[in-house]
Amino acid sequence: MLDFDPAAVAIPAGHFIGGRLVPGEGEAIGVRRPSDSALYADLPIASADLVDRAVSNAAEAQRRTDWASRAPRERARVLRRFADLIDARAEELGRLEALGSTRPIAQALAVDVASTAEGFRFFAEYADKLGGEVAATRSDSLGLVISEPYGVVAAITPWNFPLSMASWKAGPALAAGNAVVLKPSELTPFSTVRLAQLAVEAGVPPGIFNVVQGTGAVTGDALCRHPLVGKISFTGSTRTGAAIMAASAASGAKPVTLELGGKSPQLVFADTPSADKTARQVAASILGNAGQVCVAGSRLIVQRRLRDEMVERLAALFAEVRPGPTWHGDTSFPPIISTPQADRIDGIVRRSLAAGAKAVIGGRRMAAIQDGAFYEPTILTDVTDDMPAVREEIFGPVLTVQAFDEEEEGLALADHPDFGLAAGVHTADLGRAMRAVRRLQAGTVWVNRYGRTADFILPTGGYKRSGIGKDLGRQAVEANLRHKSVLIEF
Ligand code: ADP
Repeated sequence: MLDFDPAAVAIPAGHFIGGRLVPGEGEAIGVRRPSDSALYADLPIASADLVDRAVSNAAEAQRRTDWASRAPRERARVLRRFADLIDARAEELGRLEALGSTRPIAQALAVDVASTAEGFRFFAEYADKLGGEVAATRSDSLGLVISEPYGVVAAITPWNFPLSMASWKAGPALAAGNAVVLKPSELTPFSTVRLAQLAVEAGVPPGIFNVVQGTGAVTGDALCRHPLVGKISFTGSTRTGAAIMAASAASGAKPVTLELGGKSPQLVFADTPSADKTARQVAASILGNAGQVCVAGSRLIVQRRLRDEMVERLAALFAEVRPGPTWHGDTSFPPIISTPQADRIDGIVRRSLAAGAKAVIGGRRMAAIQDGAFYEPTILTDVTDDMPAVREEIFGPVLTVQAFDEEEEGLALADHPDFGLAAGVHTADLGRAMRAVRRLQAGTVWVNRYGRTADFILPTGGYKRSGIGKDLGRQAVEANLRHKSVLIEF
């Protein structure tokens, strides 16, 4: 039985700086549980002064402790111990995550906490694998390219997967020998604090992994502009990514890794190996976390011959969801993160319906379950490219359906003018699949499947306005290192 009582979960409310929980001072805002909208804790807002204290302290810890200079395998050992501790505290972390976010407890345990631990393990293994290279210089000299940590890396995470996003950012930064100052979303702030506490318990020196709480406009902005921050890693909206890039440009041209919005196509050909499997993958890709996933497969682009069958199969799967609070073990379909966000989803759907779209299923807010902001799983047909439901990132359980006859027409529909985060192609024809892989403007293309596996080695990131740089993979570790050229004359 995975059910738990949300009122019984201890909340580590505060910042985590220098290895200690630091209570807020000054301004604070109330934080609500998405499942029932109840206020459950106060969130302190770190002022620019407090951000300065946290970053200065992190820079000092990165210099003073041997985190960067110790034997890399020793750093790896500590990070592996951290991963083991995450697994050992899975129940506690999973409840904290489920309570404050949209992650149902069953998934928080099986997916989020497990992949957070495995993510740190994956990055730990890179600690002694990226030393640099020897350059081809004249034979009377030796040229070296040495990789070094930046010092302090700032990380800013979104509300949809707080723990695993923290591992994507902090994992490679720590493995590379940096100190991290992480600001979680103000909507889902507390699980990350517990994570940082466990890092210290595992042996990461105090001051190397810090968490500052607050809003984007105050705390996030101050963090991005701090002169001692060497690199910024962000996942969130395209709009905020642009603000962060501007802040970086104005405060010292810091390198940025930005994983931003998406509007990813699922391109389904009539020869797909299994219509049943494809329908399940399409449904899971837009219903998982109620569509609040940056790589959600939100646009079904299906060959006309298969269209009616596919819509029918999908409608049946959409009707099967089990909505409920995140603290119920059998919940499969979570609430929307907040009421304003549910209203935004509804606004996009309404405007599309007014423009001629038809809702095969769903199309409105769900009758409130304990006051949470649930949205009905929705399929919209009769849509055109200029409708908001096809054009804008919705971040909700809304799938649009467009049909095509010829391959070329399908590929053209798949290409979104702004976004290029991920794409799915379903076909039994290898040549067609490979033509699509070449053509699709997306950072990730899944063929005859959709969604990430435990292959942390595959980097993830966007084309177009979906971002720059990569999370995961070797590329993520490299992005947390800078390179120094050395020429030694004999
Ligand atoms: P959403 O609109 O879906 O909440 P955002 O991209 O605004 O997504 O938020 C993602 C993260 O970015 C959050 O932690 C948020 O506090 C932070 N953030 C928002 N605005 C800024 C900003 N101007 N500078 C730095 N961080 C920001």
